[in-house]
Amino acid sequence: MKKTTLPEIIVKAGQPFASEYDKILKKIKEFKRIVIFRHIMPDFDALGTQMGLATWLKDNFPDKEIHVVGDNHVVFTPRLFPEMDSLKDEWFNDDFLAIIVDVSNASRVADPRFQKAKCIIKLDHHPDIENFQEIKVVETSFCAASELVVNMLLNFKGKYTLSKEAASYFYIGIVGDSGRFLYSATSAHTFVICEQLLKTGININAIYQKMYVKKIEDLYVTAYILNHFNVSEHGVAYYVLDEKTQKELNITTERGKENVNLFSNIEGIGAWCSITEDPKDQCWRVSIRSKEKPINGVATMFEGGGHAQASGAKLNSLDDLPRFINELDKLFL
Ligand code: AMP
Repeated sequence: MKKTTLPEIIVKAGQPFASEYDKILKKIKEFKRIVIFRHIMPDFDALGTQMGLATWLKDNFPDKEIHVVGDNHVVFTPRLFPEMDSLKDEWFNDDFLAIIVDVSNASRVADPRFQKAKCIIKLDHHPDIENFQEIKVVETSFCAASELVVNMLLNFKGKYTLSKEAASYFYIGIVGDSGRFLYSATSAHTFVICEQLLKTGININAIYQKMYVKKIEDLYVTAYILNHFNVSEHGVAYYVLDEKTQKELNITTERGKENVNLFSNIEGIGAWCSITEDPKDQCWRVSIRSKEKPINGVATMFEGGGHAQASGAKLNSLDDLPRFINELDKLFL
């Protein structure tokens, strides 16, 4: 894409990061071996950004060795994303550049071997809570890490191509984290970035099919939740999926949060959550969403964090559930 055709809004949004963009491009050129990392239990944005960036790097620097690592997705691998690379520990003994996307804290990076990198770059849109990098671009106003990374790639000085394949991955990231352009972080910049992605010729209908297709069995999970949810005194909706129920419904722990947005457009409900037992980690994984009130403060109180309207947290026992719901409830007094 020619730099002269770049819309003003993309140039402007990139200006505060101009010197970081220069440094990052320099590092990309310097290292022969690059690994892209992202957060555990990945979502559309984590994987879309990781795969989009890896594809862009392979397209523009075909002589470099580019890898993606971390846990595969329980449903979207291989439907939407390829299997992650499995690299032996020895691979990390030689110099490499780590680019970490869509995660703010080191403990949530899906592969701890990023710590062995000669240089670490962090590209993220979560509140900046921990510094473990040499160079960072962190901006919470972007609705998705993909939006942030595409802004960077388009603003890089030089002539680079944005392929249809890379654009498809980034589009998945943006659609995923903006809730199909519904969440308030969706901006004019989001749409202009999407315009650039669409111009590569991506097939958005095919993308939506792969992102949102469901099986008949999935309807039984939704039916269970509609029959068993609770609503607190001040309008916090929540459902609980214990281990036994997950087995009965034939779903994995990672899939427990899939139905959380059933409550997003219900009058009188200001926040909503899924609470899913995780027998592996012996805890209850919580996904919290909200219409307007920021809920990440409550998430932080319960070993979590995230965005104002979408956060994750953890309960060590179901005994903590009343206290957790009460904290959310207090937001709506
Ligand atoms: P989830 O409910 O797992 O989809 O997460 C919603 C958002 O909160 C995502 O952007 C996650 O990256 C973020 N998030 C989830 N859990 C945590 C955590 N323990 N610490 C910080 N951010 C989190």
